Amino acid sequence: MRRLLLPLAACFLTAASERAFDREIMVLTIENIAATAGPTGVRRIDPAVVQAMRKVPRHRLVPEGVRAQAYANRPLAIGYEQTISQPYIVALMTHLLDAEPDHVVLEVGTGSGYQAAVLAELVRQVYTIEIVEPLAARAKQQLAELGYRNVTVRAGDGYAGWPEHAPFDRIIVTAGASHVPKPLIAQLRPGGRMVIPVGRTSNTLDLTVIEKDRSGRLKRRKLLPVAFVPLTRSRG
Ligand code: SAH
Repeated sequence: MRRLLLPLAACFLTAASERAFDREIMVLTIENIAATAGPTGVRRIDPAVVQAMRKVPRHRLVPEGVRAQAYANRPLAIGYEQTISQPYIVALMTHLLDAEPDHVVLEVGTGSGYQAAVLAELVRQVYTIEIVEPLAARAKQQLAELGYRNVTVRAGDGYAGWPEHAPFDRIIVTAGASHVPKPLIAQLRPGGRMVIPVGRTSNTLDLTVIEKDRSGRLKRRKLLPVAFVPLTRSRG
């Protein structure tokens, strides 16, 4: 892969100074991998997740202004002060979710719709909630254009989950929460699993995996310090 990518990049960028962006990506990637391989214990992302990410046109889901960087391993601005996670974190969270083809998944924080599309490649049905209305509307339209029929987008406060479609086999929260929302725990099926960044501030979040066993007991594992935009609450 590396052999293929380098000459390609060289075609587009000639002057050495113009490569600063590429170098930044390189350094970020190195830092990421060094920082995460140890604590997460995840040395190999599920091949089904990798295949889904190979398939989903990330550039079609992010705003036009950042399309050129869509495949760089870095977060991107998607408007309304929100960001889409870097591909590695999407891969890791999806891997940790450990979803199966017949699963129904709830996502809180639709954002661009990219994570929802990756999930849609892997499971039967995705329900996703976004609190910023124009983002919900845009994701809904883009996902429909791309032909994803098994994703349902709703504008609203995902803190409350989506009781009409509960229980969920899996729940993924893609915004940083100060605590695990009780309604989400209630809407998780016994035997189910939730992946959520939890911490007091958006700079001190831990990517957390919560498992609910058959008798409803919860087990919580902190995997990795991460940065996410905050889970906000609707007023009233
Ligand atoms: N998963 C997204 C990225 C999410 S960024 C993607 O693939 O693009 C986090 C998103 O969570 C933001 O769009 C933010 O508006 C949204 N968000 C924050 N608090 C929320 C809440 N209470 N309910 C639903 N969405 C929320």
